[in-house]
Amino acid sequence: MSPDPSEDEEDVTWVSFSSAGYGSAEDDPWEDVVPVPSPDPEVDWYDDDPIDGEAAIQWDAPPCPAPLGIAHLIRIGCCDHCLHRLSGRRTEKRGSEGGSELREQSILTNPDLSDVGPGSDCPTCENLMDDARNISEIISSACEGIEYATMQVGVHIPKDLMEEEDAIRTRYGAPASTPLKATFVEEIQSILTGEIGDIEFVKERPDLMILIDTLTLRVEVDVRPVFIYGRYIKNSREIPQTRWPCRSCRGRQGGCEACGSSGLQYEDSVQDLIGIPFAGTMGAEDTAFHGMGREDIDVRCLGNGRPFVLEVKSPRSRSPDLAEFESKISSTSGGRVVVNSLRFSDRKEVARIKQTRSEKTYTIRFSTEEAIDQENAVSLIHSLSGKTVEQQTPTRVSHRRADKIRKRKIVSIDNVEVHGEEIEMTLRCEAGTYIKELVHSDEGRTVPSVSGTLNSKCEVIWLDVENVHAD
Ligand SMILES: [Zn+2]
Ligand SMILES: [Zn+2]
Repeated sequence: MSPDPSEDEEDVTWVSFSSAGYGSAEDDPWEDVVPVPSPDPEVDWYDDDPIDGEAAIQWDAPPCPAPLGIAHLIRIGCCDHCLHRLSGRRTEKRGSEGGSELREQSILTNPDLSDVGPGSDCPTCENLMDDARNISEIISSACEGIEYATMQVGVHIPKDLMEEEDAIRTRYGAPASTPLKATFVEEIQSILTGEIGDIEFVKERPDLMILIDTLTLRVEVDVRPVFIYGRYIKNSREIPQTRWPCRSCRGRQGGCEACGSSGLQYEDSVQDLIGIPFAGTMGAEDTAFHGMGREDIDVRCLGNGRPFVLEVKSPRSRSPDLAEFESKISSTSGGRVVVNSLRFSDRKEVARIKQTRSEKTYTIRFSTEEAIDQENAVSLIHSLSGKTVEQQTPTRVSHRRADKIRKRKIVSIDNVEVHGEEIEMTLRCEAGTYIKELVHSDEGRTVPSVSGTLNSKCEVIWLDVENVHAD
C-alpha cells in the first residue's frame, strides 16, 4: 500500500537480484558434507554423444569428492576457488588457497595435470572469484562517509554463466556444493568484514543495498530511506501539507517567472518545514511526506496534531537526535508548524498511516444571510447530530475525484455559538466528511446540510481541525 507504486517495483527488482540461502562466512560450508565413496567404475558417468567415443572417454568422471572428479574439474580449467567450492573436501585453508592444496594433491597422482594450471578461463565462474577483492574495494570506498549498520548484497550474474555453472556443479560437484552466486556473496561479505569491520549482513530491510553487476563490474550503492513518525500541528492558513508544483511551469527544474524560479505554487509546505531540517542534518537528497489524510491549505490543524511519516531519502546519516528536532522545526518555521511524538518508523507504517480512517473533530465558523434566533439555530443545528449525510463529490475536487455520493456520519455536534450573523460550532465526523460542504451544502450536493436545515445561505469563514482521533 505504498503511496508510490514505483518504489515498490524498485524493491522487487532489488530483491530479485539478491542472493538467498547462503550461510555466514564463519561457518565451514563443508562441515556436514559426508564424503561419498568412489562410485562403481562400471557406471557410465556421461551422457554425451555416444558415437564420439574419444570425447566420451575424456569426459568420463564421477562427481566430487571422488579424486577422479577433482581431477576432472582441474582438467576442464576450474580455478582454485571453484575447485575448493565443488570438491566436497576438507582442506586446511579455505577458498582459493584450499583449492590450490587440492590441486597439488591431485597432481601427485595425475602428473599430466601439472600442465593445466588454474587458467584464466574457469568454466564455473569465468574467473569472477578473482574480482571479489576488487569489487569489495569499490564497495567500501562507495560507502565511505555513509552511516549504516546493516547491508544486503545482491549480485547479478549473467544467465549463461549461471546455467553453465549449474550444469557442471550438478554433474561433477560434490553433493550440496554451494552455488557460485552464494559463494561470491559470501566472499564479498567476508572481505568487507575484514576491511570495514562491524557490518551486519541481512536479507531484508538493510540500511545499504549493494547491487553488483558481474558482467560490467558495476556496483550500485542504494542508501535506503529513514522513516520518521510524528504528529504535526499547523498553525497557519497559508501552507499546504505537501509541496505543490507551480501551476504555470508544473514545477520544472529552475521554475518560471510566476513562481520566482522555485517551481512551487506555495513557498512553504508542512513537508518542507519538517523535511528540510531533517534532510539538512542527515545529508539526504530529498523527502517524501505521508500524512494520515490532509487538510486544505486554509485549514489549521490543532490539538494533538495529525500523524505523519516523513521518508528521508538517501541519508548519509541515519540517527538524528529526534528530541532536538521538535524545537528546531518550531523555531525554523516561526511556529507555523510544530511537531510532537517523533520516533523512528518504517515503510510498513506508511501503509498503516495511509489506510487508517480516523474520525476528526473540527471547529468551524460561518456566516448566515441574516441573524438567526440563537435558540432556534442551536436546536436546528443539533438536529444534525448523529445523522448520516450524503455528499456528492464537491465541485472543487471534481477534477481529481470520481463523481459519486458518499455517506458520512456526523458523530456529534457541540458548542454551537451564535454571534449575530456568524455561527461557530464544534463537530466530530467520520473520516472523509467534507466539512465545508456540510455547512454550505455545495449547491445542494450535500444532504442534509447546515445551510438546508437553517434555510439560509451559509458561507464558511474559517475551519480548524481540532483533533485527529488516531492511535
Ligand atoms: Zn572459478
Ligand atoms: Zn513556475
